[in-house]
Amino acid sequence: MSAFGSITTNIDYERDGKQVGNLRLVQSAFVTGWQTELIPVVCLRNGDGPTLLLLGGTHGDEVDGPVALMRLLHALEPGEIRGRVIAIPALNFPAVEACRRTAPSDGKDLNRCFPGDPDGTFAQMLAAYLDRVLLPMSRVVIDLHAGGRWSRFLPSLWLLEGGSDDHWRFTQEVAKAFGAPLTIVSGSLGGDMSESAARRGCAYISTESGGAASVDPAIVAMCEAGIRRVMAFLGMVPGDAAPPADKATRFMRVPGVDGVQIAEGAGLFEPAVELGDRIEVGEPIGHLYRIDQPMAPPVPVRATTKGLIYGLAWLAHVKRGDRVCIVAEEA
Ligand SMILES: [Zn+2]
Repeated sequence: MSAFGSITTNIDYERDGKQVGNLRLVQSAFVTGWQTELIPVVCLRNGDGPTLLLLGGTHGDEVDGPVALMRLLHALEPGEIRGRVIAIPALNFPAVEACRRTAPSDGKDLNRCFPGDPDGTFAQMLAAYLDRVLLPMSRVVIDLHAGGRWSRFLPSLWLLEGGSDDHWRFTQEVAKAFGAPLTIVSGSLGGDMSESAARRGCAYISTESGGAASVDPAIVAMCEAGIRRVMAFLGMVPGDAAPPADKATRFMRVPGVDGVQIAEGAGLFEPAVELGDRIEVGEPIGHLYRIDQPMAPPVPVRATTKGLIYGLAWLAHVKRGDRVCIVAEEA
């Protein structure tokens, strides 16, 4: 049993074979004074070689990733690989259990808690474990996200720029190997895992695909195929390390806050566009209907930037300031 702060694990990361165990986080701030959160971990190792870290459920209402990882783990045996795969299908376990973006115990966004705090809240402790223990072991981390309950995204990877030129070049090569139809590039979110990974010499790629807290078999298949191609790219398995040329990923960019379209009022949101449509500045993304003023005309939410409709609200209940759409532009 190795320990890091209040986190222990019964996985021996240096042992060959397939191990199924847990991270154990003890916190006194839960329901009882000695509450242990068990987070399942699967480790496959076959001798020396690169380490690939696979994460799902960083946000608890993003569920294609956990399913894709469990499918992959059912099929994968250590004898097929060279090196090590560490997979945590439901990283923010209590959040996944509750189908919430954040863990009920602290309400903190795990992907804004890096580099974490070993003596902090649940999400801060987990971020610290990743930052100090798992990311330094890993050459690449694939963190599978989706649109959550509130939204849906086109099938894509999302890369956050950062690190040295060599690190950024390598990260883009990993993204090409994963081969999602789209690869969206944007700036750092602040306190995200990508920043920690860059500091630890680990390339970070994340999917942002599907959503609505539902599982899309096509996106699950995309994640599985992408992970296998990244393994081939790293020399961990034989096979093609890139998708066919006609399926190569297309790099696009979300230009910071300009690409994020927010509602300036509240209401029931009726989209006027679909994912994959193109939009011009001033065109309506959708309309807000005021339930307290049934005869008031619906208020349009107009695009403030032009480009591809990449992410769109799924939940109709929109509050003032909510993000209703993300528009991507050519890279
Ligand atoms: Zn997410």
